Amino acid sequence: MSEKLIPNGFCVLPWVSQFRDNDGVTAPCCLYRAQEAGALKLSDLKQAMLKGEWSPGCKDCQSFESRGGSSYRLQRNQQYPLECQQILDGKAQGLIDLDLRVGNLCNLRCKMCGPSSTRKWVQNWNELHPKEYGFSENALKGFLVNPWSRDPSQWDDLWQRSQNLKTLNFAGGEPFLSPEVEVFLQRFIDSGQAAQISLHFITNLTVLPESLLTKFSSFQQTSLTVSLDGAWELNDYIRSLSDFEVIAKHLHVLDQRFHELKLDRISVNTTFQAYNVLGIQALVDFLKQFKNILPLPYLNPLTDPDYFSAKVLPSDLRSLGAERLEKIATESVHAPEWLRSSFQQSIQFLREESPAHERLLGVLLKETLKLEKASGPSLKQVAPELYMALYLS
Ligand code: SF4
Repeated sequence: MSEKLIPNGFCVLPWVSQFRDNDGVTAPCCLYRAQEAGALKLSDLKQAMLKGEWSPGCKDCQSFESRGGSSYRLQRNQQYPLECQQILDGKAQGLIDLDLRVGNLCNLRCKMCGPSSTRKWVQNWNELHPKEYGFSENALKGFLVNPWSRDPSQWDDLWQRSQNLKTLNFAGGEPFLSPEVEVFLQRFIDSGQAAQISLHFITNLTVLPESLLTKFSSFQQTSLTVSLDGAWELNDYIRSLSDFEVIAKHLHVLDQRFHELKLDRISVNTTFQAYNVLGIQALVDFLKQFKNILPLPYLNPLTDPDYFSAKVLPSDLRSLGAERLEKIATESVHAPEWLRSSFQQSIQFLREESPAHERLLGVLLKETLKLEKASGPSLKQVAPELYMALYLS
């Protein structure tokens, strides 16, 4: 039987996957913009996709592809070629891919995060952030309610629908802090299904429970994405309350036990922003010591909150940042293409002029001092070059 051509805008995820956010709200994937899709039902979304029409909720994939990039849609269609053909042939599909954000329980308070990602931001949020980014008292209280992941019946429901699962993704909050994740994994181990399932975690790696590690080898494979926004003090400055020495120790454990734990990939994800625009080289140098950890971070340019974006920096600083990224990418010819291309996208991001962002430089400078006063250290200590350029030029 000949393969059917995949229509433009078609994505396998609405048929085979479910994304569940920290607040329990579900969507076809983590990028799907439910607000922009409005009242569009899942069945309407599928019909539109079969006709080759882009949904307004899939704007991120559409704009990524229009710039020549490999979107999440293309990557996931490639992961599930058989299912794509079966859908185009009209065959029913069940759930094979779960992507779970297990709530806003996290031990960090990253500068660019908010209370929906970590409840450590609930206290003092309004005091430390611009008024237009504030929350009502009720909304703040809502962030302290137990997340969906604390309700055993929610896991029972997921378990009932997970009998043909192939991929299980966890993020948070911090999934390595969640006892419920371990209990859920144990169910797959006890039922014998684990060997058919690939696991993936996005973690801050500030904790590394042995009870979780020992479960990995029962699964087909496990990949880890570690969130790091710089090396040493710069990481701890951006990712407040973290301790890079502890994270480095955990990376060494994973590097040494890579094969024993049946790890498939360990990569680093960096939220590329104003604070680390000049500091990526130090992170790349740090990663060089490992055998089994990918040598370049994946750079993910921050867009929200907009005043922390690298785009708010003056053009001479952005040019210097772009030159440094160019040098790293040129020297890293053996790194995987998807990592090098994240550098190219970030270079393009830095070079695009954005007057709306440039007007926010004053907000960045003010916020930086306000946040440092509430809990140090200072930018002057951790990124003196950037500090001098921003405050003393
Ligand atoms: S096209 Fe993109 S945004 Fe839409 S469901 Fe697929 S992966 Fe998600």
